[in-house]
Amino acid sequence: MLTKVIEQAKIDHFTKWLNRAEKIVIVTHVSPDGDAIGSSLGLKHYLNTLGKTVQVIVPNGFPDFLKWMPGSKEVIQYDWRKEQANRLIAKADIICCLDFNGLNRIDAMSGAVKASRAKKILIDHHLHPEEFCQIVISHPQISSTSELVFRIICRMGGFGDITKEGAECIYTGMMTDTGGFTFNSNNREIYFIISELLSKGIDKDAIYRKVYNTYSESRLRLMGYVLSNMKTYPEYRAALISLTKDEQGQFNYVRGDSEGFVNIPLSIKNVIFSCFLREDTERPMIKISLRSVGDFPCNSLAAEFFGGGGHLNASGGEFYGNMEEAVKRFEEALEKYKPLLSAKG
Ligand code: 5GP
Ligand code: MN
Repeated sequence: MLTKVIEQAKIDHFTKWLNRAEKIVIVTHVSPDGDAIGSSLGLKHYLNTLGKTVQVIVPNGFPDFLKWMPGSKEVIQYDWRKEQANRLIAKADIICCLDFNGLNRIDAMSGAVKASRAKKILIDHHLHPEEFCQIVISHPQISSTSELVFRIICRMGGFGDITKEGAECIYTGMMTDTGGFTFNSNNREIYFIISELLSKGIDKDAIYRKVYNTYSESRLRLMGYVLSNMKTYPEYRAALISLTKDEQGQFNYVRGDSEGFVNIPLSIKNVIFSCFLREDTERPMIKISLRSVGDFPCNSLAAEFFGGGGHLNASGGEFYGNMEEAVKRFEEALEKYKPLLSAKG
């Protein structure tokens, strides 16, 4: 049995909407990850069983290692099919906003979603949700939006309608947002849910391989290169890795190739904070990814130094300037947060 973490009134409210809705659009955040795609497709498969017309729309592309997911081929990418997407968003009865907490996280789509007369529901696990939806199901203590989708479906009495395909998507999101159940994954109910998903016939070992063991040779060489240039800061129990545009060119970089790199320095004994700086290929800026273990709040640091945010142990932001300046900014942040970072902290 699962604890009822979501308020009954919100489940009832969403159920009432669904009873009268036909066209449903699901949107998720820019550069969608496993949980963004997994929760969106997991919900889509379920709503399809209710006879709804459902379209998942994402702001931009997502990594190839998620493209095996059932339904992923029908996902519309906003940056490619803007007009079609705008029409669907405008005409939707309900828009489900999954795995993000503010309209700025859906980039160019935000205007269309904001302007749409559709009813809007937020299903998310990031802190501090903005108020742009009538129903807000926001649970930062739950480790993935996909888990929330599973909980919502069950609370609506729909467990029996979860298909194997839907279960595969939900499992993928739960797995990727916990690094294969290695962080944010001590809630025993996660394993109850996995057990329920297994009853749908999913092959969790195969899913793991499809997501984590499908890298290209050039990605592995890029990883070796990035790690060989890693900088460590023992006094701060921190490490920094970076990747410039030029370096991306040398390794035939494609989107997603550096996914997960930021976690690797945390495997060093006594490193509790890791930063990855990646020069963006489309915009003149450096994308910041931060990870921590324990209670070091990388989201506070992201907000204070890189105009970003996120979770306690996984956050990010942006820096407008060159790599050298970004490194300098990171080192300033280390100094400021030294009391929390140094071994005694
Ligand atoms: P990643 O390092 O995987 O890109 O991002 C990790 C987490 O940090 C995301 O799930 C999101 O919560 C947060 N995050 C990443 N980039 C940004 C950003 O630019 N702004 C904000 N507010 N949060 C971000
Ligand atoms: Mn998520």
